[in-house]
This record gives sequence, structure tokens and C-alpha cells, in this order.
Amino acid sequence: FQSEPFGGCFARSLLAGLEKIPFRWCDERFDFQATFLQCLAKHVPNIYSAEMDPLVEKQEEMVQAAILYPLECYLFGEDPDVFLEKLQQSGTSQLCGKVFKGGETTYSCRDCAVDPTCVLCIDCFQNSIHKNHRYKMHSSTGGGFCDCGDTEAWKAGPLCSKHEPGASSSPKENSECQLNEEIMEHSRRVFPSVIKYIVDMLIWEEEKELPVELTISREKVDSYYCVLFNDEHHSYDHVIYSLQRALGCELGEAQLHTTAIDKEGRRAVKAGHYASCQEAKEEIKRHSENVSQRPLHVEVLHADVMAHQKFALRLGSWLNKLMSYSSDFRQIFCQICLKEEAGSEKPCFISKLMLWDARLHKGARKVLHELIFSSFFMEMEYKKLFAVEFVKYYKALQKEYISDDHDRVLSVTALSVQMFTVPTLARHLIEERNIITIITETLLEVLPEYLDKNDKFNFQGYSQDKLNRVYSVIFDLRYILVSKPTVWTDHLRERFLEGFVSFLRILTCMQGMEEIKRQIGQHIEVDPDWEAAIAIQMQLKNILLMFQEWCASDEELLLRSYRECHKAVMRCSTNGRSREKTVFHLCGHTLESRPYRVSADPVSIHLPLSRTLAGLHVRLSKTGAISRLHEFVSPEEFQVELLVEYPLRCLVLVAQVAAEMWRRNGLSLISQVFYYQDVKCREEMYDKDIIMLQIGASLMDPNQFLLLILQRYELADAFKKIKPTKDQVSSIFFCWERYVPGISNVTKEDVIMREIIHLLCIEPMAHSAITKSLPENESNETGLENVIDKVATFKKPGVSGHGVYELKDECLKEFNMFFYHYTKTQHSKAEHTQKKRRKQENRDEALPPPPPPDFSPAFSNVVRILNCDVMMHILRTLLQRAVELETHLWTEAMVQMVLHLLSLGLLEEKQQLQKSPEEEVTFDFYHKATRMGSSALNAVNVLMLVEKLKRVPQLEAQKDTVNWILQMFDMVKRLREKSSLATVGAASGSEATKGDESTQDKEKAERKRKAEAARLHRQKIMAQMSALQRNFIETHKLLYENTLEAQGKDDAIMEEESTSSAIDYSRIALGPKRGPSVIEKEVLTCILCQEEQEVKLESAAMVLSACVQKSTALTQNRSRILELSGDTLDPLFMHPDLPCGTHTGSCGHVMHAACWQKYFEAIQLNFRQRLHVEQIFDLENGEYLCPLCKSLCNTVIPIVPLQAQKINSEDAEAVAQILSLARWLEIVTVRISGYSVKNAKGEKQSLPPFTNKGTGNSALEFHSILSFGVQSSAKYSSSIKEMLILFATTIYRVGLKVAPNEADSRIPMMTWSTCAFTIQCIENLLETEGKPLFGSLQNRQHSGLKALVQFAAAQRTTSPQLLIQKHLVRLLGVLLPNYKGEDTPSLLEVDMFHVLVGTVLSFPSLYWEDAVDLQPSSVSSAYNHLYLFHLTTLAHIMQIVISSLPFYQCYCFSQDIPGWLVWDCVKKGIMPYLRCAALFFHYLLGVSPPEELLQVSEEGQFKALCSYLSLPTNLFQLFHEYWDTVNPLLQRWCTDPVVLSCLKGKSIAIRYPRKRNHLIELPEDYSCLLNQASQFRCPRSSDDEQKHPVLCLFCGAMLCSQNTCCQELVNGEELGACTSHALQCGAGVCMFLKIRECKVVLIEGKTRGCLYPAPYLDEYGETDPGLTRGNPLHLCQERYRKLHLLWQQHCIIEEIARSQETNQIFFGFNWQLL
Ligand SMILES: [Zn+2]
Ligand SMILES: [Zn+2]
Ligand SMILES: [Zn+2]
Ligand SMILES: [Zn+2]
Ligand SMILES: [Zn+2]
Ligand SMILES: [Zn+2]
Ligand SMILES: [Zn+2]
Repeated sequence: FQSEPFGGCFARSLLAGLEKIPFRWCDERFDFQATFLQCLAKHVPNIYSAEMDPLVEKQEEMVQAAILYPLECYLFGEDPDVFLEKLQQSGTSQLCGKVFKGGETTYSCRDCAVDPTCVLCIDCFQNSIHKNHRYKMHSSTGGGFCDCGDTEAWKAGPLCSKHEPGASSSPKENSECQLNEEIMEHSRRVFPSVIKYIVDMLIWEEEKELPVELTISREKVDSYYCVLFNDEHHSYDHVIYSLQRALGCELGEAQLHTTAIDKEGRRAVKAGHYASCQEAKEEIKRHSENVSQRPLHVEVLHADVMAHQKFALRLGSWLNKLMSYSSDFRQIFCQICLKEEAGSEKPCFISKLMLWDARLHKGARKVLHELIFSSFFMEMEYKKLFAVEFVKYYKALQKEYISDDHDRVLSVTALSVQMFTVPTLARHLIEERNIITIITETLLEVLPEYLDKNDKFNFQGYSQDKLNRVYSVIFDLRYILVSKPTVWTDHLRERFLEGFVSFLRILTCMQGMEEIKRQIGQHIEVDPDWEAAIAIQMQLKNILLMFQEWCASDEELLLRSYRECHKAVMRCSTNGRSREKTVFHLCGHTLESRPYRVSADPVSIHLPLSRTLAGLHVRLSKTGAISRLHEFVSPEEFQVELLVEYPLRCLVLVAQVAAEMWRRNGLSLISQVFYYQDVKCREEMYDKDIIMLQIGASLMDPNQFLLLILQRYELADAFKKIKPTKDQVSSIFFCWERYVPGISNVTKEDVIMREIIHLLCIEPMAHSAITKSLPENESNETGLENVIDKVATFKKPGVSGHGVYELKDECLKEFNMFFYHYTKTQHSKAEHTQKKRRKQENRDEALPPPPPPDFSPAFSNVVRILNCDVMMHILRTLLQRAVELETHLWTEAMVQMVLHLLSLGLLEEKQQLQKSPEEEVTFDFYHKATRMGSSALNAVNVLMLVEKLKRVPQLEAQKDTVNWILQMFDMVKRLREKSSLATVGAASGSEATKGDESTQDKEKAERKRKAEAARLHRQKIMAQMSALQRNFIETHKLLYENTLEAQGKDDAIMEEESTSSAIDYSRIALGPKRGPSVIEKEVLTCILCQEEQEVKLESAAMVLSACVQKSTALTQNRSRILELSGDTLDPLFMHPDLPCGTHTGSCGHVMHAACWQKYFEAIQLNFRQRLHVEQIFDLENGEYLCPLCKSLCNTVIPIVPLQAQKINSEDAEAVAQILSLARWLEIVTVRISGYSVKNAKGEKQSLPPFTNKGTGNSALEFHSILSFGVQSSAKYSSSIKEMLILFATTIYRVGLKVAPNEADSRIPMMTWSTCAFTIQCIENLLETEGKPLFGSLQNRQHSGLKALVQFAAAQRTTSPQLLIQKHLVRLLGVLLPNYKGEDTPSLLEVDMFHVLVGTVLSFPSLYWEDAVDLQPSSVSSAYNHLYLFHLTTLAHIMQIVISSLPFYQCYCFSQDIPGWLVWDCVKKGIMPYLRCAALFFHYLLGVSPPEELLQVSEEGQFKALCSYLSLPTNLFQLFHEYWDTVNPLLQRWCTDPVVLSCLKGKSIAIRYPRKRNHLIELPEDYSCLLNQASQFRCPRSSDDEQKHPVLCLFCGAMLCSQNTCCQELVNGEELGACTSHALQCGAGVCMFLKIRECKVVLIEGKTRGCLYPAPYLDEYGETDPGLTRGNPLHLCQERYRKLHLLWQQHCIIEEIARSQETNQIFFGFNWQLL
């Protein structure tokens, strides 16, 4: 048995072996490796034989059966499924380890995460304590990994409840199942072979051959593949093009290949003999080279090689799965991967793979990285060992990555973040592996290609992509430095310092790089590249700060690194030493310096070394270590002038650029200067240069320092001779900036607070705007939150816009106009705002600087520059010039600065005096400023000059400031005198302040009085203003809106308010008691020609701009499939589900028909002339924008005047005697059958005579109907008629989506249908908004509806009357079974309101006579309306009762349904119908409604409706009254099969009242939606590619958007999931929420759409499109309601058109594929 062990197949032998497990296990001679490879050699090539068109499922099945199953059997010693199930049960790892795909949402906790790279997956987050903390959500770029369970990543709550040990269902002691020894033993035997095979195959380079072990059992065949690899250089289209050309294949096939290549990384595109594949390879290369510079990467591989490589990956994912089951598996796997061959230099398995990574294709890399994640990264100990290996090959790996062309997420180097950010690991790597030095050296090795001859970087002509890759190395440095050590060991200190010195070498290459020289005469020809250098600065900023922080955490280290840095700066400060020193004198002081001029010599903006030194210097000062500085840097070495030199040049450059001296150097310089001071860079550029200047000021003689500054600013001459000075000397008072920890005793919080105050002094700001304006660093946002409430109050947003912070009043005194971070515009804006504010408060406009905090000791000498001789000279000179009115020598800005300096000096002296006794205060600004000199220049002192300033007319605006300064002079003087005269300082001091206070009180009182007066004045003006405004509105109302009617109505209500209790007979719309129509003369103004015209039947038509659209806003059944084209649709009956209607809306703007036509033609012409402009609207479909309000319209409604009708009540009474419902029905029947006899000879419509058992009146004949009163038809002018036809045709065309056809028989049907549907929409809207039925409509709705109803009544006259009659008969068929035709729907299949509108509007056609055009008289139509309405009402009551019966039967199991229950249900169910009917008849007849309908009240409303519509309040009385007529009807209605089936409970009819549609309910917390999205699976494809789930807000469907998998072919066009869904769900108009992006999308049809802010706000009242800020988001109900109204008011199209007009960018987007 054992001597000849494995004759057969590996699999069989293993299976056989299973039975004899005990023997096998002990068998040492079993050569697993050989057997395994034999098996693979045999099976693999067969399984993966068809690579051109692989059957993936089949392959997988075979792999399982032939290889994996036996392998698992051997490994586990039992059935793998059973075993793995057991293992699974026993618990999982404490680490989550979920690997993120691109776009997946990750969560971080701002309270507990150690650094922002620590993230949780959505499952862990939802189960963690952080859910209730201040979390952040972000979209992963892919490749990250969930940190749940990593105790080093979280300050608290490292485990979610799912990964908490013991949280799993069974309380096992050891959650990790220990594998037994045998299985471990087997693993140790199996894994090495498997791993070795994987490694060997992945790094296999031979194209034609396989390793010997794998070739044994097979004949080698000549079968090859031409394999194409993915890269990032060639676009999708390039690849498709190249493939099509090279292989001559179809577009579809090429697309298929390309998609697969993009996904997998490589794919066989041709199979065949070696030669033919080789040929194909050359072809592809050649063609791809033609389109882009580089050829595509193509290889020819032997089929067997390809097969084994593919299987190696399959084995990799098999291992990956196995790893998740047990820690033992992971450990064994890691051990084997890390094992080095004894005595060999070769790298271990895992290192081999790492080193090969850049050469692997995308698919292989993914498998490899996942394997690393699931094994090494799940075991802390092995993660460390892996990190050590990683660091060992760090340089090589990074270099490979830099020359690679794949995305960073696909590189093994991207794993660094997983290791470097773990604090203990980072410490270990620094201490033991010297990682900082390794990283910096890597940088030094990859950057030299950018070095110039002076060993400075120069990025001219750099490649953006390559440099981006270099940044990833810089990022690694940042990761390593994330957490500062708390304890320093000697070893750590040495290693860190070594790294720091190495890092300084990089900075040395940057110090002074890319020098520029001022361009004189000619403008530069080409702007040099500047982006790269600035980008590196940005990348380095945080690293520089972190290095400084690390240094500062240990005194020894700080001093030593300071010495190193100082040395490095000195080494770089050599140039210019060759020049001879020159001497500069001013007012008795001299300066010796080497000549240098920024405006003539080269200067560089990049000085990272100097700035690092400045940073270390303030930290020295802060920690107090500065006292030991001399031990490390001797005073002789220090050379402060040299240190100051370069930063000073940089500041001068900036000032000169601002003064436009460098205009010829182009945009490149302006951009650099911008970033130098911008929040993104300033911390390590501008701010540090200021600090360096302050170091100079504190260490140099003040006079010399000022002279140096004057000289460098090239102002020396300006103060010697009389010469105009243009530049700012602003850096002098920027030396005064003390809000830097170390320079004064402020905290980081104070600093942020001051930044915020100054931002808010400009204007109130949104949270995100403030964040953006603060320097970005780890604590930026938390820092902001800690202080923002102290200085500002939050103002909530309205329905649009966002919340803002407003500065608290008490913080206004902190405002410093010359805040050093203000830009020029910010400065003037803030000054303006603050002055305006003070003016409003009726205070003076002086804006003195706030009292500054004290300098820390190391910087205390800075103050001396203010009272030194040179400064006094400067001040005096400038003031003198201002006073002497030599206008060409000074500007107001300059005087402002002088005043600012004076304020600073006086404030300083005042503060010092208040703190310490007078004699100790050596700062004698007051003294110097008031001292008289002997020389001519000194003849007048500063104080006197200031006094004189008051009289300079040009300085009127500064008057208040001047006054303030004079007061300060006075105060300081008194402080000096008081303390010198009085014996004890303290007492007199307090007195002085008291005196101060009393005068201040007086001033305060005076101010208050003035303020009060001003307030009253303002109030008066406001009142006047609002009166004016009202007037304005009135005028415009008259101009543009038809309010006459409304006003008239109001008046009518006023009059009759008293008689409300009794039934008001003038307010009945139907029947003999009908009230009069309220009609006013309508005079309208055309918005185009501004001319007025009265609306009359016979005059030229006036029209309202209108928009007709299909709508599903009222649908009760969204699953119903809508007909996309209405070619065969019969729109006469509306289904009670209201699935899709035609809505007509109007913006209410009136034009002459002729004016509109001219306007429309003009747009058409205009459009045709501008061929290439993409159109916002579809002219072909008659679209245009309303000329006044720019809303989208596609037609016009003609305005037809209402015809006055008044009933003579005596006549009516008389008629009532004879015209009962029964008789009316008879007459109508006779008339109809008469018509059919008379006209329809060919048609088979024989109507049975309507038999009536009641009255035996036989005097009925064809003309009876006319005997109750007729009148001649209205005569419309031809222009009105034309417009009637035009509008009716539009409704028909849009509503049915068909080509226009004026003669189509369905035109009248569509007219009635849109009329009914629009009324229903408006009724629905009023109800959901809780508004009364009448009087609350918006003007546009009111005038639109009025025009629509009148149009619908008039439209009849433009169609053949026979046609109308035919429709009428069909409509009546629903109510009166004797007219019932074959296609008449049953009672339960129609919407009754549509029937009512249709019959009422078509009924007059029965009066049509050949010879004369007649219509019913007022009395006749009163009865017609009444009976038609009563009939439909009866039918509707039946609908309600029948549809609710099944429910009541369940309720009481008997036929005896309590009467009150039925009544209740009828009353509730009929309300919407009655309300619609009231609206309809009101707009049709113009009878004023009862005033109860102008209010909202349940009960009153019902009564009023019944009264207005001539119904008994007890509706069942109708049945009694008409019993004889109704009884047969009822019986016939109920025998209809559809009704019967419903009565028997077999089918369910729609219930009344119908449900009101709302947008779907959204969760309050946005992360719930993200959670839903994360569980979303595309219904069409099973791959794990990133999807874009979107939510339909109408129906709640989740769709897979912007993805080819879910595109649908509609009418021969590819439509995206959203677009095709919208066709069904919203008849083309729809509203979606893009979940991952938190944006709402509105779309219409296939070509239009726009983005709309999502209704989710963060706590700062801001939306977060794209989730870029990542704050927790919550649903804002008001905003969601606004979206709801947008939908229900049918304004989505309007919104899209408006946004497209303003945001032209969306044109590029292909909405069709959404
Ligand atoms: Zn997780
Ligand atoms: Zn977890
Ligand atoms: Zn937390
Ligand atoms: Zn006009
Ligand atoms: Zn308009
Ligand atoms: Zn939907
Ligand atoms: Zn899909």
C-alpha cells in the first residue's frame, strides 16, 4: 500500500486516504509536494483551457471537485463543509479587518480615534459606542482596512459589540478555537507547497515553458494566447480602437475585452499558434502607439502558463478564505511566508511577492494584498514582522512604485499606512530599523533628477504623475510621525536625530531653490512651472510641524536638533559674501551690511531650513530651554543678521509684488506669493518668516534692525531725502504679532480664537467656510469647536441657504484692522464692516488695536523698536509730510499705518505702566514722542504733528482715530504723572481709572441718548420704506397679475359676512336656485408689449404661458406599467388609480397671442443662427421660457371670458314642476336616439328606448330638449379659435406622446382629462398643505385654473359636434347602462370626477342643430349640471360603498353593517370628489362659494360643499328622492362582473378617499441610508465592483445608476437605470437621491436634469454634497417638504430649466445614462 502509494490521481488517493486517516497522518514519507504538483499538472491546463471565452462557473466547479475539495479533505481530515462550519461557530477574530473597496463609506470618531487614519466599517460603526460620538464619514478610496479591534487605534471603545469577545452567542471561554495538532501538522505540510506554487507561478517569467515539475504528464502543444495588460496611460477608447484595428474584431467584442482588462488587469485577446499570437501582439502595439505615445503592454503566453497563473490566483483566494477561520492558520501561513532559506541571501516568500508586486497585473495584486490583509495584518506579532520585511525592501519597493503606472491603491507600498500609523510599530521601526532615515534617504535617492548644478531642486518641466508618486513617500514620513512618543530612550533619541539630520539634507536642497529675478523691460515669455515646488511645500508643511513637535517634546533633543538646523542654515547662507560691506547712516545710527537688492538680485521664496529654525526657536522660548542655547550654539556662531537676511528678502519680495513692481514676471510669481500667504502654506512660510524677523528684532540693536529693514525694503533713500515712498513697511508692526505660543504666553486655543474672531469680523460665516480658512491640521476642527461658542453665536438656516456663525459683540474689541493674516481685500472689507457697525451703533469710527498679550522673556526686546530713534524719525517724517500736505509724498493708507504704530506704542506703555511702578517702566514711547529736538527736523514733536493731523481735510476719515490717539497720549501722561506724584501707585491708579470711568460713563450716557434718537429715526424711515414697498407691489400687481377678480371676491365676502348662518342662496352653483356669476371686466396687460386690453369674445386672443406635462403625482399604484406611447391609447376614461394624468400649469403671465407668436418665432430664429449652442429647451416641442419669469413653458392657454349667466328664478321654478330627473333622462335618451337614427346610418348603434315606468308622458320627441330654453352659441374671434385649437393640440401631443394631429378624435377627450386631472392635483395640494379650498390658491394657480376650465368649455366649439356627442354617449354609458357599449368600463374602473367633467363639458353638444348653432340657456344648463352631477355623485357613492364593503364584512361578519359606519365611510370617501366638483363648477360658472370654504374646518366644509353643489347634507336622501330612477341603475351597476367579483371579495377595488402621495419616508440619520447603500446589490450583475446606488424618492426603489449593467434598451436607445425608471415611475419626471454623494437629482426625459441639495443638514446647518466634510447629517423636514411641494406642484421641470440656465456646466453630463 505504501510502497506504491500514488499510482492514480492525487484526488482519488487523498479521498481514499481519508478512510485510513490514522495511517496517513503518521506517514512521514508521504511526499505532499510532489503529489500536489502532479495533480495540478494534470488538471489545471484542462480546467482553464478556454481562456478566450471562459465559462467561469464551469471552471469553478471543476476546480472545486478536482483540486480544492480533496485538498481540504486532506487538510482537515473530515468533510470540509462540516469542519469549517464548526470552526466558524467557535468564534472569529477580535479584529474586523474588513478591506474597503473604493467608494465604500468609512467612519472615524473625532473623540476617540488616535489619528484620522483610524476608521471603522459601517457594520462595526453601527455596533460601536462611536455612533453617538462626534463622528465623520468618508468615502474610501479603496485599499484601507477596518480598525475595529485595534487597541492602538482608539482611545476608547476599540471593539464593536460584534467583535467584543464573549459577545458571540455561545459563552465559550476561549473564543478562538484551537486547531488540533494533526490539522496544524497538515497545515505545515500543505501551506508551503501551496505558497511556493503561488509564488513560483506569479513570478514566472518564461513565456513558453513551465517548471519541470508541472510539465510531466503532458505533451506540449503549440497553443498560445496573446494577452493584453491594463495600464493607466491608455483610455478605454484607445484600447477599444487599437483592438478593433489590430484584430479586426467587432466593437462589442473589443468593448468586452476592454472591460475585462480594466477589471482583471489582463486578458487573452487572441488564441492560436505562437506565430499568429506574436503577430497580433505586434499589431496591437503598433496601433496603440499611433494613438498615444506608448504602446500597450502585450505578451504572448503559452496556454499552460496562463492556466497555471490563473489557478495560482484561485489558490490565493482560497487561502484568503481559509485565513478568516482560524488564528492558527494565519500564524502558520505567516511563519512559512517569512521563512528564509538557511544560509541563503534570497528573500522569503512574502518579500519575493512584494518585490514582484509592481510587475504583477491588477488582478494578481488584488489577491496578494487581500491575502496580506487577512493574514499578517490580523495578527499583531506578524504584522510587526511583516513591517520589518517591508522596511527592509522599502527603497526598492518605492522606486518600483514610482516607475510603475498603476494607481497607488494597487501598489504594495500603499500598505505602509496600515503599519506606520500604529504607534508601537512606528516606535519599533524607528528604534530598530531606522525608518525615518530610510524614508528620507529614499526621497534623496528618487529626487536627484530634479537637482540643478547648485544641488538645489528645480522642477521645471517635471511630470505631474511622477511627482505625485514621490508624494507617497512623503506621506509615509507623515504616517511615521503621527504619534509623538511620550518617553524618550537614548536609542530612540539617537535614531530620531539621525533621521532629522537626514531630513535636513532634503530641506537643504530646497533652501533657496527656484530663484527668481525681477524682470525689467520685457515681460517673461513663458511662465515657469511653480506648482511642483509649492505642492512639495504643502506636502511638507505638516511634516515640518511634526518634526518640530517631536523635537520640542524633549529638551536635550530640541537643543541638539536646533544646533543641527542652525548649522544647516549657516551652510546655505554663503552667497553674497563676496561683496564688500557698505555703510548706511540715518539719524546718528549706522548699519554695515553687504549690498543686496531684492529688485535686482535673485531671490527665492523657498526657505524651509530658516523656517524650521524659527519654529525650533519659538519652541526653545516656550519650553525655557533657550537659557541653555549658548551651550549648543555659541553667540559668535549665531550671527542673527544672517539668519534674518533670507526671510526678510522674502517679505520684501511679497511687498514689492503687492506694490506691482514685479508685474513683468507674470502669473507664476503672483501664484507663488499667493500660496506663500495662503492658509494652505502660511504656517511654514509666511508665519515663520515673521517669527524670524521677530527673532532679529529681539536680538539685534533696535536701530540697526530698523535700518536693515529700511535698506532691504529699498526705502533708505525715502527717509533720507524727500522722495516718494510707495511701499508698505507693514512688517514693522507685524513684528508686533504675539499670538504664537512661545512668543507670548498664549495657548493654541487663543490662537485659533483670534483667527476666528478676525474671520467673523469680515462677515458672518458658515462652519465649513471657517474651517477652510483655518490651517489644516489634525486638531483643526476640534480646536475650532472648543472655542467657537465662546466667540460666536450660531444662526440657523432657513429653508434654503446655510447656518452661519455671528461674532459676539463682546469680541469686537479684539479686532485688529492690520491683522497679519488678512489679505488686502479682507482687510478693507473688515475695516468697512466694522466702521459701518460702529456708525450704526452711533459710536466714533476709531478702530484702535486691541491690547496685546505680553511678550515672553526671550522676545521682550522686540518692543524696543517702537521707541528707538530710527522709529521716531520714521514716524515724524511721515507725519510731517502729511501735515505739510505734500500729497505726492504720502497716502492715507500710510498715515493709517503711522497711526496704528502710534497706537501700538501708547498701548504698550499704558499696559506696562498699569502693571509695574513707573520707575521700572523703561519703555518711554510717550517721552520720545513728546520730546523736542534741537535740530530743524526735531523742532516739532510727534504729538504736535498728530494734533495738526486733525486739520488735514484729506484725513477726515481718520479723525476719530486721531482723537483716540490724543486721548491715549493724555492717559499715558496722567499715568506717568500720577504714579510719580502720588506716594503709592495702587490707590491713585484706581482713582485714575475711576475718573476715567466717570468720564466714560458720561460718554456712554450721551452715546445712548444719541443711539436712541437714531433708532427712532431709523424706525420712521423703515416705515416709509415699507409703505413704498407696498405701493410697489400694488403697481406691479396691476401690471402683471390679474387680481381684479380676487379683489372683487374679497369685497363680496366683506359685505355678506353677517348673514352666514342661513343658507345663502346666491352661493349655490347648481340647479334652479343657482346664484349669479360674479364677473368683472377683465383688463389685462401684455407682458411683452405692455399694452392693456380687455378680454372679450370678439377681440384678439390673449394667452397665458403654460406648461403641459404628464404626471404620476396622484397615482395609487406605482407598479402599473405605463404605456410609453399613446398611439393606441383611449384616454376617455381615467382609471380610479389615476396612474398617469396630464397636468397643465401656468406661471400666470399674460401676453397677446400675436405678441407671443412673434416672441416664439424670434427664439426659433435666434436658435437656428447659433448652431453650436446647446439648447436648454426643446424648440421642436414648442418649449420656450416665459419672457417674464423664465419658467419653462411649452404652450399657451387662450383666455376665454366667462359668459354671464343669470337665472330668472320664476322661470326656474316653473321648469322645476315638470323637469324631474326621470323626465330629463327620457328627454336626453330621445334626443340621443334621434341623433343616432338621423346621423349614424352606417353605424350600428341602436339604442333601446329608455323605458320608464313612472310618468306615462308620451309627448316626447327629438326636439323636446330644446323646449326648456336655448340660446345661440358664443361667437369666438378667429384668433381665439386658433389658439383654442393650438392649445388643445398641445395637450393631445404631450399627454399622449404622439405627433400633433388637429383632426384626431381624442383631442376633446384630452382636453377634459387635463382639466379634471389638474383640478384633482390642485385639490390634493390644498389638502396636504392644510389650506382652505378657496381663496388660498397662488395667483398663478388661480388664473391658470380659470383659463383652463374656460378653455375646456370653449374647446367643444372647434370640434365636430357629432364627435363630441359620441364621446358623451360613451361617458354616459358608465352611469346609464342602456348606453353601455362593449368597451364601456364598469363602475369600479373609472374615476368619477373625470366622468363628471367630461359629461358636463360635452353635454351642450346635444343642443346642436343642423341649421342653427344652439346651446342650452342658463336655466337648461342649470338643470343639466344638476342632474349630471347628481348622477355621478350617486355612482360615486356606490363606488365608495362597494369598495369598502369587503373591509366591513371582515369587521362584523354579517350583512348588517351599522348605518353610521357606512355613513362615516361615505362622508370621508366623498370629500375629495366634492371638493374637486366645487372647484370645477366655481371656475366654470363663476358663482361665489360659501365663505365656509374660505376657511379650514371639517364639518363646516362638508355642509358648505353640499349647499354649494345642491346636495342634501344627508347624501342618502338622494337615493330616496330618485328611488324610482336609481333602483334599476343600482341593480344594473351591481350585476357587472367586475363589481360582482369585488362584492364577493374576490378582487379589491381602490378605496376612497384615495391616499395622498408623499415622497418616501427618509431616515432621520443619514448613516442609515449609507448602511442601506452598503447592502445594496445590483440586481443585474454579481461582481463586487463599486456601484452607485440611488434612491427614487417617489417610490423608494433603489437603483444601480451610471453603470452599464443596468442600462435598458427603450425604443432602441440605451437608457441608464434612473432614466428608464423615471419613464415608468414619474412619466419621465423623477427625483432621486444619490446616496453615496448625498445629492438629489431631478431628471426630466432623456436629456435634462439637475442637481439639487439633499434635505440633509449637519449640525451647522449646511448640506454636504459629496460627503466631503463628513459630519453627521440629519434630515431637515422643512427642506424635504419643499422637495415634496416641488413635486406636487409640478415644478420639477421648471426647477431643472432654471438650474440649467444658471449652471451651464451640466450640459456636458449625459443624463440619458444616469
Ligand atoms: Zn469592521
Ligand atoms: Zn467590529
Ligand atoms: Zn468615539
Ligand atoms: Zn402684446
Ligand atoms: Zn411667467
Ligand atoms: Zn420610483
Ligand atoms: Zn447594475
